Amino acid sequence: MTKRATAKPADRHRTPTAPRHYAVVGAGIAGVACARTLRQAGHKVTLFERDDTPGGRMASVDTAFGRFDSGAQYFTVRDPRFALALETTPGLCKRWSANLVRVLDAHGRVAEAALPSLEAHWVAQPGMDALVAHWAAPLGDSLITGTQVTQIEPDALDAKRWQLRTAGAEESQHVYSGFDAVLLAVPPSRTRALLGDGKLSAALSRKIESVRIAPCWTLMIAFPQANQPTMSHLGPQWNAARSTHHRVAWLARESSKPGREPIERWTLQASAAWSQEHLRDMPSRVEAKLLRAFAEITGIHATPAHAKALCWSEAQTQVPVGQTHLWDAKARIGIAGDWCTGHRVEDAFLSGLSLALETI
Ligand SMILES: Cc1cc2nc3c(=O)[nH]c(=O)nc-3n(C[C@H](O)[C@H](O)[C@H](O)COP(=O)(O)OP(=O)(O)OC[C@H]3O[C@@H](n4cnc5c(N)ncnc54)[C@H](O)[C@@H]3O)c2cc1C
Repeated sequence: MTKRATAKPADRHRTPTAPRHYAVVGAGIAGVACARTLRQAGHKVTLFERDDTPGGRMASVDTAFGRFDSGAQYFTVRDPRFALALETTPGLCKRWSANLVRVLDAHGRVAEAALPSLEAHWVAQPGMDALVAHWAAPLGDSLITGTQVTQIEPDALDAKRWQLRTAGAEESQHVYSGFDAVLLAVPPSRTRALLGDGKLSAALSRKIESVRIAPCWTLMIAFPQANQPTMSHLGPQWNAARSTHHRVAWLARESSKPGREPIERWTLQASAAWSQEHLRDMPSRVEAKLLRAFAEITGIHATPAHAKALCWSEAQTQVPVGQTHLWDAKARIGIAGDWCTGHRVEDAFLSGLSLALETI
C-alpha cells in the first residue's frame, strides 16, 4: 500500500516556510507592494527609503499655490490583481476626466485632436504619493526613511546572511545586519551599483545590462491670476495633452484633477530626447525654454507666479528586462521595479508583488 502524506491538523495551520528577515530597498510602489506581501505572509521586513517619504516616482510637491504631481500623472488599471489591491483603499483614488487631446505642432500651426478615452485615468488624492503612503502605513517602524543603502555585503557574523551599509542625514552611517535576502526595488543605475557591478550576482547583473531608461525634465507652473473673475478663461479647454512639440511630450492641468486646490496649475513633461539632450542644463535655462514651449502650445503667455523645473534622471523605461521580476535564489537577491516589464505604475506594483510571491 502506498503511503500518502496526510496533513496533521497542526500542519494545516503552519506557515509554509519559516519566517525570514528580508531587506527591501526602495519605497516606491514596487518596494511597498513587495514589503507588504512579505509581511502578510508572516515574514519580517525592513524597508529602506532614501527620501523622507515613500512614493518614489509617484511624487507630489507642495507649493504655496497648491500641489503638483511631479512624477506619475495618473495610472490605469488593466490587471485584476492591481484592481483588487485598489479595492483596499476606498475613496483614496478617483477617476480623472482628463479630457485628453493630442496637440500637433506642424508647420507652426497648433491643432488639437481629442483622444478616444479607452481607459479610465485614476489619480490618488490629494496627490499621487498618497497611494504609496497609504499602503506603506501598516509597515510602521519597519519603513526606515531618509536612509540610502550604499552597499550590500555578507553579514560579518553570519556569512549566509546579508548586511547593508547605509547613509542618512548629516552623513550618519549605519550597518543593518541579519537579512536572509535582499530585494532591490530601485531604478536600474542604483541596482547596478548595489550589485557591485556583478560581484554579488553575475547572473542578475547580466540580465539588467541592456535595460535603458530615459530622463525627464518636468516643469511645474501656477497662475493664481487665472482664478480672478476677469481672467477665468485662461488657456485651452482641455485638461491634458500628448504633444508632438519638439520639446514637450505631455501637459496636464493639475487643478483639473479631483481633490486638488483650484488655483490654475500646469505640469509639463519634456520629451525623452529633449530631456536627454538637456540633461546637464541649469534648471533656470530649462524653465525658460519649456515656458516658451508651453506658451506656443496653450496660448497662455502670462508670467506664472510660480515656476520650478526638476529633472528625473531615470523616468521612463525604453528597454525593459522583459520579465516581471528577477530572483537569484542562490545569492538570495531579487529585483523589482516598473523597468522589469514597462514604464507604468501598474507594472511596478505587479513587479513588486510577483517578486515577493516567488520568494515566500
Ligand atoms: C515624470 C514621470 C511621469 C510619469 N508618468 C506616469 C503616468 O502618467 N502613468 C504611469 O502609470 N506611470 C508614470 N510614470 C512612471 C511611474 O511613476 C513608475 O512606473 C512607478 O512610480 C515606478 O515605481 P517603482 O517602485 O518601480 O520605482 P520608484 O518609484 O522609482 O521607486 C524607487 C525608490 O527607491 C528609492 N531609492 C533609490 N535608491 C535608493 C537607495 N540606494 N537606498 C534607498 N532607497 C533608494 C527612491 O528614492 C524611490 O523612492 C511616470 C514617471 C515619471 C518620472
